Amino acid sequence: MEFRRERLEAEILDPRRRFERERLPVEIRWDPLLGHSCRLLPHGSLQPPAPVDLEELARQSRPGCPFCAPEVEEQTPRFPPEVWPEGRIRRGEALLFPNLVPYAKWSSVSVYSPHRHLLPLEEISPALLADNITTQIVFMRAVLEHDPSAVWLSVNANQLPPSGSSLFHPHLQGSASPVPTTMQKLLAETAPGRIREYVESERRQGERYLGSVGRVEWLASFAPIGPAELRAFVFDAAFPTELDDALVAELALGLSLALDLYADLGFQSFNLAVHGAASGTGDDPLLLRMVARTYFGPLLRSDAMWSERLHWEAAVDLAPEAVAELGRTRFSHV
Ligand SMILES: [Zn+2]
Repeated sequence: MEFRRERLEAEILDPRRRFERERLPVEIRWDPLLGHSCRLLPHGSLQPPAPVDLEELARQSRPGCPFCAPEVEEQTPRFPPEVWPEGRIRRGEALLFPNLVPYAKWSSVSVYSPHRHLLPLEEISPALLADNITTQIVFMRAVLEHDPSAVWLSVNANQLPPSGSSLFHPHLQGSASPVPTTMQKLLAETAPGRIREYVESERRQGERYLGSVGRVEWLASFAPIGPAELRAFVFDAAFPTELDDALVAELALGLSLALDLYADLGFQSFNLAVHGAASGTGDDPLLLRMVARTYFGPLLRSDAMWSERLHWEAAVDLAPEAVAELGRTRFSHV
């Protein structure tokens, strides 16, 4: 397993040092699983996430929110009775309903709770995560029973508008489609056993390994696709529908630690994707990937620039090894 990296230097006459000659390091890394590259910039090269008054944003966005009680009962769609006779799926405080926007043949939205319009990352508990993920699993099992062609399954999240969410109210999104996404296809094409080899390499090297929570292994991505990319692997499940309650609880506990780490790094917005690799070897794990998103405002920087959107190459100034070191203390206590 090759962890390929190349260090380059940019040379400038630096206005911050009376125009003295300065060499600035940049490291290019290649992801061992998917092949994409990233640029690792010196720490502090980019604006850190700006502090955000979440309570004020919650207050502004609360009126008319269709995911809040009681509006959610009237303003969100229901499934046809042949898919789910009750129309919406409930577990604990979580509530799942079809997405009004058809991102996939079968597309769902699940709120952690219609009573929690404001949910900072450090307050998303393992129980809230487990119940919400479970509604997505129930949704996918129901869809597959009705439509066996929708085999490409994923549980995803946009948390807050910087991550692409059109609504402030925290939620997950599910997707069941007969057609894979680009990333699902790339993962399905990885050689048999390569993912296990990758995780074992990272565990052995240790510098990006966060730890395991039950049967779920967590690490920081060597070549992150966005700020502070984390990955988790569940070798006891190949697809979201194979997660039983115990595995969901283990996944949820790790995810709550990861979100607490993001909050500690100053982030409140993130994207998440959980899906199988599906290369058909029987040894492929369920894979979770997540990235932090930086808060935007009229004059604040987005984390996605020309490099991310058009070159598929993230430029980040948070070293994966530093992210892992911060995360490891959390994961070592479970
Ligand atoms: Zn709401």
